[in-house]
Amino acid sequence: MDLHHLTIHELSGMLKKGVIRSRDIVDSIFKRIDHTEGKIAAYMTLTRDLAYEQAEKADSVIKSGKAGHLTGIPVAIKDNICTNGIRTTCSSKILDNFVPPYDATVITRLKDAGAVFVGKTNMDEFAMGSSTENSAYAITKNPWDTERIPGGSSGGSAAAVSADECIAALGSDTGGSIRQPAACCGVVGLKPTYGRVSRYGLVAFASSLDQIGPITKDVTDSAILLNIIGGHDPLDSTSVGTPMPDFTGSLEGDIKGVRIGIPREYFIEGMDIEVERSVMESISVLEGLGAIRKEISLPHTDYAVATYYILATAEASSNLARYDGARYGYRTKNAKDLFDMYIRSRQEGFGPEVKRRIMLGTYALSAGYYDAYYRKAQQVRRLIKEDFDRAFESVDVIITPTAPTPAFKIGEKTKDPLSMYLSDIFTISVNLAGIPAISIPGGFCSGNLPVGLQISGKYFDEEMLFRLAYAFEQSTEWHKRRPVI
Ligand code: GLN
Repeated sequence: MDLHHLTIHELSGMLKKGVIRSRDIVDSIFKRIDHTEGKIAAYMTLTRDLAYEQAEKADSVIKSGKAGHLTGIPVAIKDNICTNGIRTTCSSKILDNFVPPYDATVITRLKDAGAVFVGKTNMDEFAMGSSTENSAYAITKNPWDTERIPGGSSGGSAAAVSADECIAALGSDTGGSIRQPAACCGVVGLKPTYGRVSRYGLVAFASSLDQIGPITKDVTDSAILLNIIGGHDPLDSTSVGTPMPDFTGSLEGDIKGVRIGIPREYFIEGMDIEVERSVMESISVLEGLGAIRKEISLPHTDYAVATYYILATAEASSNLARYDGARYGYRTKNAKDLFDMYIRSRQEGFGPEVKRRIMLGTYALSAGYYDAYYRKAQQVRRLIKEDFDRAFESVDVIITPTAPTPAFKIGEKTKDPLSMYLSDIFTISVNLAGIPAISIPGGFCSGNLPVGLQISGKYFDEEMLFRLAYAFEQSTEWHKRRPVI
């Protein structure tokens, strides 16, 4: 049996029994990478030597009987999460040579849990995009069909998990960047409640929306990872001290009587017929398990994409002001003076989508336009949040497709930013409201392309998401299908 096919919980059981060593898993993963990475391009950087070092340490911890769930398990990290001593580029030329002098809090926690690092994964530059085509280095391919995008911006992480080039991965989600690639690649992606996971060491895109979360092969692994990365962190003032239950303990519960909200605004004309049918079938599966379906309304849904693209770009324009060629990152070779150095470093270092967003955001914040755009968008954000508050008075979760279509062809949307922005139409509201949501494999379309089912929940109620997602997983086989590469 090939170890790279297995999940965290399966491998962890075998490690503790002494049937295998962490080293064997690392062997299997890198053999797999040697075989498939040429076709997939999921990674920016591979950390083979470090992985073997960490595996050796993990093996001695396991021998001493002190192993946790993640001890000795190979994981991949999105390249916008700072790793001490390991290049962290955000898939941007401007950070081409950036080696962080510290670890993000989630990295420290993974290390403390005994994880093994396989490498850093490719992404849309600064997490801006839905297809990984905005990476300044390579386009990651979808393992189910290498002519298609893996989704984005955490496309490298999702493709690596789906292609068995790691056992699990971390991504980040500002407007859908964990859930949409998870849906495209047929794996599980969780965006935790805003504040549940520390953002310390996550390179900021839009700070009021960004959240780190796990991308895994099944729901149990997602719960295991949230247990480890979640919880208060004094280094991130927006991280919250809400109690951290043992999320693996919430998997098995009964879902009888759980009320599922189906927002009528999400089932609109223009949605892919096969996606819609598969989501409807998934809802029937949950009804068969005793859940109750209820139609709800989220009346401000129509404004979500516009609101997001004002707020996210405004925050990005401010966050990305720090890349000026002076302190770190890329510096132009041919500057006339200091001001020219700033301009040229940014001109040469940033890609076109990042520049587009910096300009949009700067405009939205500029004197005279601030009230019309930024302030207005903040007000609409509030209305969107209140839509969810109202909905959650009568339902426990909300179910929608994760994305309106399955993975599209490489190049199909690159010339039309607006159509690219619309791939996140079902995920963006969740970030604006700050609630948690999970995408799980919910079926397949023609062409053997996975469809994602999105379950959103109340603030800090990831337990309910896990319970429902796990019940669904137990009664379906979708998560067991693997791509043939
Ligand atoms: N695709 C969205 C964007 O381009 C969301 C990205 C993300 O969640 N990081 O902004």
